[in-house]
Amino acid sequence: MPASRSPLETLAVPTTHPLWAVNLATDFGDPLTIIDAAVNTATARALVERALKERGRSLSEVARVIVTHPHPRHLGLAGWIQTRSGAAVFLLERDWRWPWEESERTEQQATYLREHGLPERWIAAISGEQEEIRGQVAPLGQVSWLRPGQTLALGGSTYLVLALPGHEDGHLGLWCPERRFAVLGDVLGPG
Ligand SMILES: [Zn+2]
Repeated sequence: MPASRSPLETLAVPTTHPLWAVNLATDFGDPLTIIDAAVNTATARALVERALKERGRSLSEVARVIVTHPHPRHLGLAGWIQTRSGAAVFLLERDWRWPWEESERTEQQATYLREHGLPERWIAAISGEQEEIRGQVAPLGQVSWLRPGQTLALGGSTYLVLALPGHEDGHLGLWCPERRFAVLGDVLGPG
């Protein structure tokens, strides 16, 4: 795991997209916490298990998975981790549409891209990639809800739960005033 200036340790997990990785932020203390959960691929599963092992921890000890927003690259492994650990999976409280409920969104986006002149081969590639990663989201059991203004203990500090809509309605952020550090998911990113 690379050195990080973050008060939380980060792990870059490749996605099925050739240009993008997802940064998982992790508190290796107790309760053992993973923020965002990458795609559900054999590579991602192996990276997460290895990172935990390097810290003397195991998957079965994960107590919390906090998902900034349920896009496949952030939700993918949450159900897999939950099944193996009994971890609570937290998202901002909302009537979410889950990745497995959104196949019509691929067609809506294809129509939008077509209307704006994107070549059909690009539309097909983008649609295919999106369908593929939606299929890679592990089934998720019970979800626990977070609300804006709530606080969480992470890495020995207190973080404030923020609602940061834009990239996705209901996207959450975590802000630590003491460290002037924020976990922002995709608020400033592409995926
Ligand atoms: Zn996203």
